[in-house]
Amino acid sequence: MTALLEVRDLAVEYDSGERRVRALDGADLTVAAGETIGIVGESGSGKSTLGSAVGRLLPSTANRVTGDVWLAGERVFDLPPAGIRRLRRERLGFVFQDPIASLDPTMRVGKQLKLVLGSKGDPLSHLDRVRLANPGRVARMYPHQLSGGMAQRVALAIAMACQPRLLIADEPTAALDAQVREEVLEVVFSVAAEAGTSIVWLSHDLTAVARRCSRVAVMYGGRVVEDGPAADVLGQPAHPYTAALARSAPAMASLGDRLSPVPGRPPVLAEASHGCAFEPRCPYAEERCAKERPELHVVRTQEALCHRATELVTAS
Ligand code: ATP
Ligand code: MG
Repeated sequence: MTALLEVRDLAVEYDSGERRVRALDGADLTVAAGETIGIVGESGSGKSTLGSAVGRLLPSTANRVTGDVWLAGERVFDLPPAGIRRLRRERLGFVFQDPIASLDPTMRVGKQLKLVLGSKGDPLSHLDRVRLANPGRVARMYPHQLSGGMAQRVALAIAMACQPRLLIADEPTAALDAQVREEVLEVVFSVAAEAGTSIVWLSHDLTAVARRCSRVAVMYGGRVVEDGPAADVLGQPAHPYTAALARSAPAMASLGDRLSPVPGRPPVLAEASHGCAFEPRCPYAEERCAKERPELHVVRTQEALCHRATELVTAS
């Protein structure tokens, strides 16, 4: 196995008693060592569920999980608790939208970093690495004293402390204002590049992702429906959903992230889909699209889960 991360036919269902949601419906993803990949899709498409599943961080309501996740040659779902702790400590780092929530409110920043580093590391150099001015002062602060951008840098320093092979960044800048957002993204990508760490960046924003990532995977209804080089996915989408996302990208920036960029509503699945989940909103849908689950088609440099992908590309 040469890939760093392999996700195969992953399905996750949440069951809260009154309601069952199939958040992942057979998702596939491969990430090579050192690669930066953006995963985009509307709210509810399953991005966070996918990220959490990789670190086995799913809540207990996610009580049906099938498929496989391999990380650095290890089958994540087979690992005993000690193996999972080692994986999270040595191989995998996470940064989330709300950095304060991932920090201990009662402990100074320097001490939290020291706990992760053990005796081998110097917290100040790790704070310096994420370009925090005056690391000595920041190390003495409590999380509530940090601004949003500072807190995200601290969370990044902790996530990257043990030089993980993979960093999963789940909308790390969604809560920050525009200028700080760019600065924090810059730090995330440069620190990971220096360490040779792969990034999986979960985001709503296809254009932002295409600017920084070599590859983009587009999620819809709990599956990866298109995957390929970022410039090609954005410039010549192979899946009708990606095409709609790409067309609406400039409008999205002014409308704000939370609005649906494509007419209609995304699906909330209760069970495995029988056809293509995008069929009700797709301008190219035919009869079979509602009945048959689409297989993967290779179109130019991309892979797309669309019955008509090859024919639509030839026609365009
Ligand atoms: P967003 O862009 O809003 O972060 P997302 O793409 O990350 O969305 P997920 O958070 O993975 O999507 O959610 C996928 C589906 O699973 C949604 O329908 C969501 O409501 C549901 N879901 C997520 N977490 C839970 C949970 N803990 N319990 C029940 N349902 C959940
Ligand atoms: Mg999410």
